[in-house]
Amino acid sequence: MLYAEELLLKAKEGKSLAIDEYLELYELFKSYTPSCFKPSLVTYSRKVFIPLTNLCRDSCGYCTFAKKPWESSAKTYTISEVLEVVKKAEALGCKEALFSLGDKPELVYPEYAEFLKKMGFKSTIEYLIHACDQVNKSSALLPHVNPGTLSWSQMKELRRVCASMGVMLENVSERLMEKGMAHENCPDKHPRARLAMIKAAGNLRIPFTTGILVGIGENVRERVESLLALRAIQEQFGHIQEVIIQNFRPKKGTRMERFNEPDTRDFLATISLAKLVLGDLTTIQAPPNLARAPLYAYLERGVSDFGGISPLTMDYINPEAPWPHLGWLKKELEAHGFKFRERLCVYPRYIKEKGWVDDVFLGKIKEYVGEDGLVKPKWEAF
Ligand code: SF4
Repeated sequence: MLYAEELLLKAKEGKSLAIDEYLELYELFKSYTPSCFKPSLVTYSRKVFIPLTNLCRDSCGYCTFAKKPWESSAKTYTISEVLEVVKKAEALGCKEALFSLGDKPELVYPEYAEFLKKMGFKSTIEYLIHACDQVNKSSALLPHVNPGTLSWSQMKELRRVCASMGVMLENVSERLMEKGMAHENCPDKHPRARLAMIKAAGNLRIPFTTGILVGIGENVRERVESLLALRAIQEQFGHIQEVIIQNFRPKKGTRMERFNEPDTRDFLATISLAKLVLGDLTTIQAPPNLARAPLYAYLERGVSDFGGISPLTMDYINPEAPWPHLGWLKKELEAHGFKFRERLCVYPRYIKEKGWVDDVFLGKIKEYVGEDGLVKPKWEAF
């Protein structure tokens, strides 16, 4: 038996491995697909994407989402615009209102801080809490928020108005904050701040999404370290519903436009590694609109969720990458022997166990889901 295969056996038996041993397995996974990672059930969440503001105080080397207030594409949604989008989404069977936005723009843009002040808010997070509250009062959608690095008290406040939250860890490497690297001039991307936030979410019992970004200048060892850090947090708190394995895509006009995308073999090996490290502790998700390999190759490697897919709005973070047509996706997956079901932004486990979501959402959630915690067939939409 090859040394790497012996290691794989050891890992499958639940024995912990050294980082160098995971690196050996990573090399094996480039040319070998373990048969035990393939799920029978694949899920997605029917969502609408609301970029509450695209102003941001950070300047990630790969981002085209963030704008400066003086750019013509800078935009902050008013509450009536939010509710208009939500109304259309509801008519199309969406259940999740995903708020994704820039981080703390009020700290660097006085004109935006003034705009918030005129509306009666001291910060973007206060405005976000108000927006979620309005969505809860006027629709059947469940807010999920992804607003960057939050403090304990902000998360505690947000927990009352949104069903779940998320922040990408991206990577634990502090090297990526250095000059010329992806997170230069990005105070909110400091890995220690992100890890602290993920742990705080665990303490607050918030169903949580996180993930790593692959190909932003990190090395494979740092990827392994990132996955191990997430595993340690998940073993302690159990609140991480899903870990996204996202491939970097270079975009024109960004500092990283000339960086190479991760090679498909490397990316698939990273998915296998994530499944090996995290096992059944959480769900592995990969965005289907960014895929460079057939989607069933992702599934064979351990992905069992395709995240939020919207029938209404684009992926504002990756506007060049349209989401797959859901009817087509269902047909494709079923042709390859997978079941494809709709879930809410809160995964079944966190619905079945008490104490994960605020009581205010329980009525809506019970109406949507069946015994299995997935969306009832009568509400499912493809
Ligand atoms: S990726 Fe997020 S944090 Fe980074 S610049 Fe874009 S919006 Fe800001």
